[in-house]
Amino acid sequence: MFIIFGNRVRSKTISTGQFSCPQCKVQRDYELRQARNWFALYFIPIIPLNTIGEFVTCLTCGTQFAKEVLSMPMPSHTPLDRLAREARADLDSGTPIEMARQKLINTGLSRDLVEHVIAQAAGSDQKHCPLDPLTYRATVQRCAQCGAWLENSPRA
Ligand SMILES: [Zn+2]
Ligand SMILES: [Zn+2]
Repeated sequence: MFIIFGNRVRSKTISTGQFSCPQCKVQRDYELRQARNWFALYFIPIIPLNTIGEFVTCLTCGTQFAKEVLSMPMPSHTPLDRLAREARADLDSGTPIEMARQKLINTGLSRDLVEHVIAQAAGSDQKHCPLDPLTYRATVQRCAQCGAWLENSPRA
């Protein structure tokens, strides 16, 4: 008999309320949900692991935002999928993943959400420079720093 185990992501609603949705541009109902990794056995989540992040979902348009949208500082007005798209465009144009991550951190986004966006943008296929401690998306051929040909990284 096989024992099947792995990670599952579960999210639960922490709170609901009204916020001014940057997408709808008016007051909407929202759900604040917390996503968490669970250790799962036979696909049944058993042990709660790390928290991935907290997301605000507009119940009207379905767009997800960083939790900070509720307290209204600027960068979190940007939907997460748009941040991920922008980060991916950066990565595809040859920006190292480390630099894209720092750029997101500089916008004031929480560490959890930065990792979430980077994981979404970078994908599982990555390359690294044999000379610099830099990693790149698999679409990039050469290191932006030193010009060396990139090597495939083992899958995370
Ligand atoms: Zn909305
Ligand atoms: Zn290099």
